[in-house]
Amino acid sequence: MANGQLLTTAVEDEAQAPTTAETVLELDGVAKRFGSEDIIGDLSLAVREGEILTLLGPSGCGKTTTLRLIAGLEKPNAGQVRLQDETVAGDGRFVPPEERGVGVVFQDFALFPHLTAHENVAFGLQEWADAERDARVDELLELVGLTDHGEDYPDELSGGQQQRIALARSLAPEPEMLLLDEPFSNLDVDLRVEMREEVRRIIKETGVTAISVTHDQEEALSISDRVAVMNDGDIEQIDTPQQVFQQPESRFVAGFLGHASFLPGEVHGDHVETALGRVLRDDVHGLAHQYDGSIVDLLVRPDDVTAYPAAEAEADGRVVYRRYLGPTVLYRVELDGGETIECMHNHSDRIDLDERVGVRVTADHELAWFPADHRTEPDADQVPSGAD
Ligand code: ATP
Repeated sequence: MANGQLLTTAVEDEAQAPTTAETVLELDGVAKRFGSEDIIGDLSLAVREGEILTLLGPSGCGKTTTLRLIAGLEKPNAGQVRLQDETVAGDGRFVPPEERGVGVVFQDFALFPHLTAHENVAFGLQEWADAERDARVDELLELVGLTDHGEDYPDELSGGQQQRIALARSLAPEPEMLLLDEPFSNLDVDLRVEMREEVRRIIKETGVTAISVTHDQEEALSISDRVAVMNDGDIEQIDTPQQVFQQPESRFVAGFLGHASFLPGEVHGDHVETALGRVLRDDVHGLAHQYDGSIVDLLVRPDDVTAYPAAEAEADGRVVYRRYLGPTVLYRVELDGGETIECMHNHSDRIDLDERVGVRVTADHELAWFPADHRTEPDADQVPSGAD
């Protein structure tokens, strides 16, 4: 799992999809069963025009099945799928994939090996007049930066170039919506980062609404306008990358989006008393007064806390794990009270394994929190991280 410090979000430097934008896709109470197994329970989702939404979750949680339900490659057992206000699945209707105006970029790119890049891009434009088709293909090859590679066959293209052609082919017929299934999983790590930026640029330039699927949280946070975190066939939270990372609504979301430690503390008036000292109530996001006197768990990411070598009288715990990650070093500290806290320091920092350390909460943002008496999942009426 990637560390919190390395995570960047696309929306920091670019405008998000406007919240007033029209809804282009709606899933309403969608369920999907394979045999006797419920894969998707009761899933509802609305996607706005022009946004990039990523379905993020662990392997087997139902992301690809959701994408296939949207594409029309699977039929739901219950609920409706609506595209541009038209029911395409449900209520006794089923519009086949080729009539939905949806383009799909597959994990393995699925280029036709016997066709050139130009012919691959032109594939979905058979009905177009020759001149129009050639002009559209040229436009797309330019958009994806491969004007000079139109006559190359897929095996003459690099992985990144193949992905650009796959994207251009899906965009060619001007789909209402683009679906991307694990689009970067076939690329090596360095290329993945470059292609994320490039794919986001291309999608934003065309203005197409896009839904992507991944189990890589860094990828989801960096390319998306909104992220839907899925678990066991359901959506746990859907929001901007910053919100799902900084204000997760469940412990599952908190843990899935990066290292998460939970620091228990008792709420007393203007502060929370923890094993690491007082955390001011103002530094905890929306800690409602109904929790006064009760125990809450503060969510601390590794860059929210700092450890330092300390004399026994001042020590809070012991370093039980140390991992050098290049730019940073990750320490795991077992506190004397039994809790474990992870700390991320600069690479030049050197604290030894087994060393006694003090730990301070040094976060410069409001911490999220969870009621401690609901250590598995908070109840709906005990909304954490902002309840009031
Ligand atoms: P991954 O990240 O590993 O691709 P995912 O979240 O995309 O996982 P899905 O591919 O949607 O998960 O699969 C969800 C569950 O549904 C899995 O348990 C899978 O085995 C099962 N499943 C998917 N397609 C079928 C099918 N055609 N028949 C039977 N079971 C299926």
